[in-house]
Amino acid sequence: MKKIAVMTTGGDCPGLNAGIRAVVRSAIHHGLEVTGILRGYEGMIQNQFIPLPSHAVSNIIQRGGTILKTARSEQFMTVEGRAKAYENLRTNGVDGLILLGGDGSIRGIQQFLQEHDLPVVAVPKTIDNDIYGTDYAIGYDTALNTVVQAIDKIRDTADSHDRIFFVEVMGRDAGMIAVLSGIGSGAEAIAIPETRTRIEQIVQVLQRGWHRKKTSMIVIVAEGDDAGGAYKIADAVRQRFDSFDTRVSVLGHMQRGGSPTCFDRVLASRLGVAAVDALVQGRRDIMVGVIDNKIAETPFETVVARRKEFPYDLMRVAEILSL
Ligand code: ATP
Repeated sequence: MKKIAVMTTGGDCPGLNAGIRAVVRSAIHHGLEVTGILRGYEGMIQNQFIPLPSHAVSNIIQRGGTILKTARSEQFMTVEGRAKAYENLRTNGVDGLILLGGDGSIRGIQQFLQEHDLPVVAVPKTIDNDIYGTDYAIGYDTALNTVVQAIDKIRDTADSHDRIFFVEVMGRDAGMIAVLSGIGSGAEAIAIPETRTRIEQIVQVLQRGWHRKKTSMIVIVAEGDDAGGAYKIADAVRQRFDSFDTRVSVLGHMQRGGSPTCFDRVLASRLGVAAVDALVQGRRDIMVGVIDNKIAETPFETVVARRKEFPYDLMRVAEILSL
């Protein structure tokens, strides 16, 4: 192996640059040349390959986003698109690939590998932290801290005006951000896609807080909750309980940006080094993750076939503490 490629695919998140830096520096340490592919699978098909010498990754560990850009690619979903991508990898002399992506990206490369031969190692990134095979994915810790800081600010204004705030956080299919930020910010109620949301239950919690003379209350809603987003849940609650002034705040894309936390920088650095180690030592078609604080390698087929266990016990913690 002489030359490897690195790319970021799927949605962006903080910590990707730290991961790219780790891959580049570690590859150079092993005497490999590195090329970056811009815009994920789309750039692979459009032949957007750039050289990545060591200085190209200087001063990026603290930056949010991704210097390689990222994109979703319709073309990569087609046999022709993947064939074109493979042709470009070959003409650019790529002997191995490291991708920083989510489970969709891993599904994509699995499809690609059924048709073409290339050693590939994946590094998990997602603010939802719902990828099987790792306790933590890059971006999750930073997103959580961003959300908690935002809720702290919302709490200040909610308290001044005696208001209930319904705060919508990211999580189309996953409630990890909602639950952890809910515990971290002392939210009164949390609505997530993994459990059935009962409006009556939320109303009861809020009424209990009202009787205890709470001056502000926060309800965290994951965007993919079965009862709807924050606006819908706020409307349903308002119809049953109108003693409080209510407001809705949708945090949106700010959750994906910002400088990565030290945790995410260290995680991305460890995983980047582990991914290059795996490639160099001849292991392929695996995702590197961290389980019980040790590097763990999981085959792609297991990553996409298994569902990460949801920590339901944390919902209990949140409920007990919301008194
Ligand atoms: P996130 O969901 O965190 O944003 P992700 O990596 O899961 O990240 P997706 O948008 O699901 O992001 O997938 C990224 C890209 O992977 C898609 O745009 C598509 O090009 C490719 N892809 C996903 N699934 C497949 C598949 N079954 N076959 C071929 N390509 C796929």
